[in-house]
Amino acid sequence: MKVCICGNPINSEATTNHVFWEEDYCSTYCRLFDERGLEKVNRGELLKEKGNPNWKNFKGFFDYPPIQSECQCCGKEVVLSKTQEPSKPYCSRACHTKIHRHPKSRKSQFVFTMLRVMKHYAKTKEDGRQWVNSAEMYSLMQRMGCHPEKNPYAMLMRIWTSRGVLEQKDSTRISETGNKLSIKEYRFKPSLLNEPLGKVFYEYAGASFDGE
Ligand SMILES: [Zn+2]
Ligand SMILES: [Zn+2]
Repeated sequence: MKVCICGNPINSEATTNHVFWEEDYCSTYCRLFDERGLEKVNRGELLKEKGNPNWKNFKGFFDYPPIQSECQCCGKEVVLSKTQEPSKPYCSRACHTKIHRHPKSRKSQFVFTMLRVMKHYAKTKEDGRQWVNSAEMYSLMQRMGCHPEKNPYAMLMRIWTSRGVLEQKDSTRISETGNKLSIKEYRFKPSLLNEPLGKVFYEYAGASFDGE
């Protein structure tokens, strides 16, 4: 099993792993900590700055600092802690509800997770690995529990391409029997990478998003 920079094991197959698309980290916190080149902070120095007279007692302790991230729904700031909800996706209960009760999408959290995964790939991977086909998406999403038995992603990816959130290209692969297979691959549109994903999720489906 892989180990995260913080020492935690990464069990990407576990259904309790809510950031199963983070292959190299145990949490969003750890990815940001690594990507931004952050360091642990000395608890004693921090207490000294705050004027705590006992700061010397804590000179030997190093803590993970709070890290600024963004709400996956509205884009507002979310402060992540290493120990409490290190992958916290939403700034508020309201944003959580907004994603789970999308007016035009049944099983909206699966659809939203698909978009989150694709946005994550488009943002963090090199060009060739940003494209995903529906079978790859299905096997990735199957790692979550309570998943539909039939692969809905060919249809979902087509819908979200026609809505302008994903882009599609045709590729060919050689099958095990030597036949040429033509497959459709999809990528999150690079021009939408800086938009709050909840807003995209609503507005490109023709629903109004009021922010939160
Ligand atoms: Zn970690
Ligand atoms: Zn929010």
